[in-house]
Amino acid sequence: MNTAFNGISPIGLGTGRFPFKSPETFNADFEAAVNLVLYALERGVNYIDVGKGYSNGKAFSVLKEAFRRTDRDYNITVKVNCFEKLTLEDYYKEALFILNEMGLDRATHFLLWTLMDGVQLKRAVEKGGLYDAALRLKSEGKVKHIGASVHMRHNEIIDVVESGLFEFVLISYNLLNFLEMQAVLDRAYEKNVDILVMNPLYGGLIPQNESLFEFAGMDKGETVVQAAIRAVLAHPAVKCVLAGAGTRAQLDEYLLAANYDDDRVKRVEKLKKHITESKNFCTYCQYCADCPEKIPVPQIMNARNVLALQDGRAANAAEKNFFQSLHDKFGIEFESYENPCVGCGQCEEKCTQRLNIVESIAEVYKIVRKVSYDKVSRRERFDELINSCCYKKVGFWPASGGTVKILDIYKNIFGKIPFEVELFDSNADFHGKEKFGYIVRPKEEAKSLGVDCILITSFNYGNIIKEQIKYLGGEGIDVKVLYKPDDVDWWW
Ligand code: SF4
Ligand code: SF4
Repeated sequence: MNTAFNGISPIGLGTGRFPFKSPETFNADFEAAVNLVLYALERGVNYIDVGKGYSNGKAFSVLKEAFRRTDRDYNITVKVNCFEKLTLEDYYKEALFILNEMGLDRATHFLLWTLMDGVQLKRAVEKGGLYDAALRLKSEGKVKHIGASVHMRHNEIIDVVESGLFEFVLISYNLLNFLEMQAVLDRAYEKNVDILVMNPLYGGLIPQNESLFEFAGMDKGETVVQAAIRAVLAHPAVKCVLAGAGTRAQLDEYLLAANYDDDRVKRVEKLKKHITESKNFCTYCQYCADCPEKIPVPQIMNARNVLALQDGRAANAAEKNFFQSLHDKFGIEFESYENPCVGCGQCEEKCTQRLNIVESIAEVYKIVRKVSYDKVSRRERFDELINSCCYKKVGFWPASGGTVKILDIYKNIFGKIPFEVELFDSNADFHGKEKFGYIVRPKEEAKSLGVDCILITSFNYGNIIKEQIKYLGGEGIDVKVLYKPDDVDWWW
């Protein structure tokens, strides 16, 4: 195998969007995905980002086949999540499993994957935890660099950068959080920590709102995509931007964007000035803080930038981005869907952008109610699905990190779990083995285990899984899906 250990290309290949259309087109789709990877390598892309579950779980096998067909150098990631109860040995085995899935015996970049806050960082670096597993892999030559991907507030990301533990950090950075991320980037540059960037186009919302982001262009010939990518690459701390490309054309556009030569300092300064003076965005100046009803107005308004831009399109994606942004940047969750604003207007009087805050806050709470994102709604959902039925034993499906997070949310709301938990999954490789502290069971064991209900926690495939196991209803086992159609995912 060939893995490059030096020099990352400014555009990296994200592997979460390979276009697998249907089981009937699988072979052709697989071949197209392999060819896209080979094409990227030929065009000089040498950083490939992959994680478990990417492209519906097919990304590893696509890469395995692409690597078999190429002799080019590449940097490749191994990304491992941090969970309570897992040991150094569990993480180590998980990394080896991922390498094996790609037909590799080593990789270049190990990432502590999706650190959400300082608490999780602390857990990850505890003795005998995920970070120690990374060190062991590095000492054995199985990985070269140790980094972290973070979904944290910018002040917590600065802590990660300053920790001295990581050679690189993968962050979400784009025109919507451009101003507040400058402090992170400046500190990373000073500390010689490489920054890799995900989500440079904010999930597609930037190109979908071209007229609003035209300001990012330095000359008339630049497309909004090019301007957005160049804005991100302009800071010297940024070494690579991940392009989630599904086609050659998309990849080509990213590559064209990275191929430019201008005054980067001027570009950053121009953008900072424009965003600060913009009438469309909340710039997070925080003059509207100190709401008498304790509403975190600056934080909600800043995260709401994405809702203001959606313009009726991609509504659910924008809503999810809003909640994620509020959580990642500010650590804010909604306790209830009831809007506490009394309309005193003092926030609007202070707003430097003259934004219509009272109306915006009301809209936000309407969305919270619709998508059941608050604690009260979640309590009601758990009461409806589980607690009101007085189940003694509940099975959760699938045996995934997502299910563990849902169990954590339950514990956080109710203090403890008053029923026995079993984990179920369709993957026969997991059966009889321990995952997240539970033995994973096949559905055939549900009745003999005395399970009263199976709750499906998959956000994307809940109803498909329900169809596959609903026959258990005939054996006296309730089969239920956690999420309802209007929901957004409760975690990320
Ligand atoms: S108008 Fe509403 S959000 Fe603004 S300060 Fe008054 S109570 Fe808070
Ligand atoms: S005063 Fe206006 S621009 Fe400043 S943080 Fe509040 S809403 Fe945003």
